[in-house]
Amino acid sequence: MDSDLDAFTQNTVRHVPRVAPPNVLPAVCDVSVTNVCNAACDFCGFSRDKMTAPRRYIDLSEFIRALPILKARRIRYMTFQGGEPLVHPNINSLVAEAANAGMVIGIITNGWFLTRHIEAMAEGGLRRVTISIDSSDPEKHDANRGLDGLCERIKEGTARTRALGIPIWASVTVNRLVDYDALPATLQKLGFEAVCFSFPRRKRCGSTSLVFDEQSTLINFEAAELIAALEAIDRMRSKFPVLNPTAAVAEVERFVRGEEQRVPCVGGRKYFYLDWNLDIWRCEAWSEPMGSVFELDAIPDQREPCFDCMMACYRDASAVMHGALAVTDAVGALAHGKLREASNALRRPGVTFSLGALAAAEILRLAPLPKFRAGA
Ligand code: SF4
Ligand code: SF4
Repeated sequence: MDSDLDAFTQNTVRHVPRVAPPNVLPAVCDVSVTNVCNAACDFCGFSRDKMTAPRRYIDLSEFIRALPILKARRIRYMTFQGGEPLVHPNINSLVAEAANAGMVIGIITNGWFLTRHIEAMAEGGLRRVTISIDSSDPEKHDANRGLDGLCERIKEGTARTRALGIPIWASVTVNRLVDYDALPATLQKLGFEAVCFSFPRRKRCGSTSLVFDEQSTLINFEAAELIAALEAIDRMRSKFPVLNPTAAVAEVERFVRGEEQRVPCVGGRKYFYLDWNLDIWRCEAWSEPMGSVFELDAIPDQREPCFDCMMACYRDASAVMHGALAVTDAVGALAHGKLREASNALRRPGVTFSLGALAAAEILRLAPLPKFRAGA
């Protein structure tokens, strides 16, 4: 196993002819509103200690101009990220404008400035807050972030977010500061309702994103250690709500083992990355942008199957969307009298697997989250 798991490539990108009717399913876009961050995380290139690029912030008026174009592409879910999105001088307006345009808006933040913005963002229509957490030990978390007292600020931020009725989740990157047995108690004390895990990236991203670190010793996993972490995540489900679909974690485990993948990524078709330059990308790992967001209506979906990385947001979305995409493609083809095309859509590999993952995720969504005592 290559020590750099992201270097693993199955050469599975195949070129297939496209041109098909637009799919009705809603799409997702992660929007990096700035490359600036006030934190210094060891395994992230946006760290204030590593950043050498000029500071960039997405332009509010240009973003507003892009919203109808994104909506026309059926993007309905947006997550604002960075860098640290709460250092953007217009973050409250970005949230409000996107929500006004009909997007469901979430934000992922390190939490330092959350109390400064949460009420204004809630007023603007924010629907979800995710705070990144690096360790089950609050002292180690604050030290890795280079922000003394961060966990205390997070506690206040989660309490105020919950008081506004906004779901508050933790996002934990798999790294050597995490003890999975101790993590549920820490997350409860910090006031979180659920957790999603992301998987570490050592290889440089092809896009403008800097969510990688080639040197960090916190994430230079061999396969066995990473698989043990994935198994610990699955065991944790009985103690604390874990949002990553079981099927997606299983897919990542197959990736780490070098086994065949079941579900191709929806990146570039139902999941996009938009950066502070207003360039739209298939994903953060991709080396070429699809183009300027203002040209998006003329840029085709990227449908070539890709299985080349284990970025959690794309893998989670793919696990639950692949089957639904096939069904809606089939319905679209039937509506145009294309029986063979409809049949082929439903017979794509991984469709049954993905529909099972979607059903399981929907059951989870409908079930009440287990009760716990915040601040316990
Ligand atoms: S992980 Fe998040 S908080 Fe840490 S340096 Fe990167 S962008 Fe900043
Ligand atoms: S996020 Fe998806 S499209 Fe992008 S490299 Fe990874 S698997 Fe491929």
